Amino acid sequence: MPFRPPPTPAGQPAGMPVGRPPGARPAWLAARQSAGLFAVVLAAAAIGVALSRTTGGIAALWLANGLTIAALLQGERAQWPALLAGGLAGILLADVAMGIGVPASLGYVASNGVEIVTAAALLRWRLGGAPDLTAPRNLAAFVLAGPLAAAAISAALTGALLAALPDAPGLPILGRWYVGHALGMAVMVPLGLMVLRREAVPLFATPLLARTLALLGGYAALLAVIFTQARLPLLFVPFPALLVVVAVLGAAGGTLAVLLTAGIALVGTLLDHGPLMLMPGATLPQRVGLLQLFIVMAAAMAFAVGAIVQERRRLTQMLVDQHARLAGSERLYRLLADHASDIISRIRLDGTRLYISPSVEEVLGWSVEEMMRPDWQKNVHPDDLERFTSVREALRNGAEQMRNTYRFRRKNGEWAWIEGRLSVVRGADGQPVESVGVLRDVTRQKETELALELAMMELAEQAATDGLTGLANRRRFDEALEREWRRAARAGETVALLMIDADHFKAFNDRHGHQAGDDCLRIIADCIAASIRRPHDLAARYGGEEFAVILPATVEAGAARIAGRICTAVSELNLAHAGAGAGHVTVSIGLACATPGSETTPAALLESADQALYAAKAGGRNRVEPGSAAPQRVVALSPAARRAAS
Ligand code: GH3
Ligand code: MG
Ligand code: MG
Repeated sequence: MPFRPPPTPAGQPAGMPVGRPPGARPAWLAARQSAGLFAVVLAAAAIGVALSRTTGGIAALWLANGLTIAALLQGERAQWPALLAGGLAGILLADVAMGIGVPASLGYVASNGVEIVTAAALLRWRLGGAPDLTAPRNLAAFVLAGPLAAAAISAALTGALLAALPDAPGLPILGRWYVGHALGMAVMVPLGLMVLRREAVPLFATPLLARTLALLGGYAALLAVIFTQARLPLLFVPFPALLVVVAVLGAAGGTLAVLLTAGIALVGTLLDHGPLMLMPGATLPQRVGLLQLFIVMAAAMAFAVGAIVQERRRLTQMLVDQHARLAGSERLYRLLADHASDIISRIRLDGTRLYISPSVEEVLGWSVEEMMRPDWQKNVHPDDLERFTSVREALRNGAEQMRNTYRFRRKNGEWAWIEGRLSVVRGADGQPVESVGVLRDVTRQKETELALELAMMELAEQAATDGLTGLANRRRFDEALEREWRRAARAGETVALLMIDADHFKAFNDRHGHQAGDDCLRIIADCIAASIRRPHDLAARYGGEEFAVILPATVEAGAARIAGRICTAVSELNLAHAGAGAGHVTVSIGLACATPGSETTPAALLESADQALYAAKAGGRNRVEPGSAAPQRVVALSPAARRAAS
């Protein structure tokens, strides 16, 4: 190709539209571009005129217009007048220099100008600036606007002009004008764009050069052989070879191959060689007409297949880019996970670990390799294992996110509390495939929590315990009585209640001192506690030197037995009591029993036991007195009245 594309400005990559941005383009560069176009078009038009001599006045292949259209498409709109002037001046000069009269030359220039501007304007309107003709839709638009529409318009215009000229070559050859121009455009516009964008440059760069030369050289040699012989009808033999060239070298290689096809076939045929000589009696114009059809077929095949190849390459490149982007973001996330202070973990829902971040070593002591072993789950605390696996089960069954706190053995054998936040990752089919977890060592918090819980429990215990004796205090007694009462109501059982009071205790204090009195109360409390056995029995300090025992699900006889046991046990302690007639410490016990019903209440039961105690005191102390009346019918005595009575 004689046309040298103007050098792109420094820093602008090859393939960018020439001379952009417009404001940055110096005037001399624009002048150089149109001068370059002038020179190339001059040569192309001269070839065209020379060809027209051999075929009776109209060129079989008119290359000049396609080159100018390519320059306009690639250039800025503002460059069009200069480029158009360069191109048309080249055509005019070639026509005149080749001996065509000035008026006829001007007429041809006008027709060519209309064709060039029509094609360029239609294409710019449909496809915008610098169109990519390897995209199938663009290629179709190009064929419609250029070779089909614009060439037809210029042929019609030329027909009108030729009719008016004295040296008119005659109307029947206008069909050849049309075909020659359409063909020239089809070959030269893609070629011109390719050259201007340097699209073929990679084909001639080091890694591909040998392959490009071998394929194009081989193809040219094949064409040369076919078009220098006239014995065999090998006209269609180049097509498979052309397909191979396009498939391997892409649209750019295909364009070059089409140019080779047109050039070699044309030269061979015009020199009376090649398969077209096998048509007996055919005139040269007839042979050239068939040759044009041959070139149209080659161009159509090359451009169509080139567009498909290019489309496939674009898709492949898109996939490669997408893959690279994915790999890039994967690397980025891996980097984030690798440097997170929490542990990041990926586990397939069957339990296979896919990834664990290196922070695991700092947190748990295990290395990444150790944590990746298939048996990593053995370090989950046995008590937490079921919950641990059930969380994964929940993710498998549709849960999106789960939280789980469990114990995991550190390498040093201690247990760490781990809080895991797990999210499910779904495959392309929407099915859960793995879970991504952020795991945090919460041992400190958990220990603090447990200590706090323990302290709270102790506090609650203290709040319910009598400080002197260690028995339940009055508050817990009241709660327990309510609770046991309700339980008995549900079960239809009896609740028994003992009210125990130390005898003559005021006198004990008076004689032995308050301290000894306290010690004595402790001993009595232990004695009472030792006398009850069932888990729900409850001994409480009711107040002062008074105690109470709740005996759930106990009938009167059983309660009386326990009361008797307490009475005897205290007496048998034989604690000296200088102020008592017995000479030792004794207790009196009032007993009451009731089955909860609509007419009975815990308060009535208490009152009944209290009355029984009063009776025991009245009866001589150191004894058990069973409640004589049903609790609900007991007439309450005020404590003051009771005290007065004793
Ligand atoms: P009774 O046989 O009729 O029950 O005579 P009593 O003296 O035991 O009864 P009273 O209700 O008159 O006196 C109760 C005494 O118990 C008064 C108090 O000094 C003594 N007391 C109450 N609580 C405590 C205590 O926590 N420690 C000591 N050391 N004595 C207490
Ligand atoms: Mg008392
Ligand atoms: Mg007393």
